[in-house]
Amino acid sequence: MSNAKALVLIVEDEPEIAELIEFHAERAGMRARKVHSGRIALDVIKREKPDLIVLDLMLPDIDGLEVCRRLKQSDDTRMIPIVMVTAKGEEADIVAGIELGADDYVTKPFSPSVLMARLRNVLRRNGVADEPSPTSDRMVLLESKLVIDIDRHEILCDAKKVDLTLTEFGILHYLAGRPGFVRTRDQIISAVHGKSTVLSSRTVDVHITALRRKLGTLADCVETVRGVGYRFCEGANEED
Ligand code: CA
Repeated sequence: MSNAKALVLIVEDEPEIAELIEFHAERAGMRARKVHSGRIALDVIKREKPDLIVLDLMLPDIDGLEVCRRLKQSDDTRMIPIVMVTAKGEEADIVAGIELGADDYVTKPFSPSVLMARLRNVLRRNGVADEPSPTSDRMVLLESKLVIDIDRHEILCDAKKVDLTLTEFGILHYLAGRPGFVRTRDQIISAVHGKSTVLSSRTVDVHITALRRKLGTLADCVETVRGVGYRFCEGANEED
């Protein structure tokens, strides 16, 4: 991120909600712009290249998932992070959005401070590097309590070696590669595909349970995101 204020585009057809988000985004030091339809959003995004998009899924013309799909298909807009705003009980849409490449989501009714925490997180993560597929051979996480040695396929928990199966290692490595990002079971399956036997949604859960048991006191770093999937969590969860 440069020193200029981040431009947040709010795509939301309910005016009160759009204004609420705008108010808090501006108070948090961002510039905000509101649009009330998917079609206008796509136009404005192409022209103005916002730093972040807050995207309601239920829109009058082109729905949020379709907006997300189109943005992620285009080289010009693929890198712009998206935080989805969804109604309660729309887990299937959340999963679809994340698989399309959305970065995070909040569920209505949301608390403004939770939404702002997510927006700041997404901006921060994107300010660092995009998709930082860890190139070094070791990932040092959780204040050095967890070390993932990629070459050796080994992890150290509190400096003690812990034996993981290939699948468990693959899942941990994948989730830890982008801390804070929710991954669906299908994303986990394709990421570790080929490195192990066939995985199904159900067996992902079984591997995660085994992985957590082996992580011992660090087990909480693999967080369940109900109805959606899993994420690697560094430290206390500031968002909920
Ligand atoms: Ca709506």
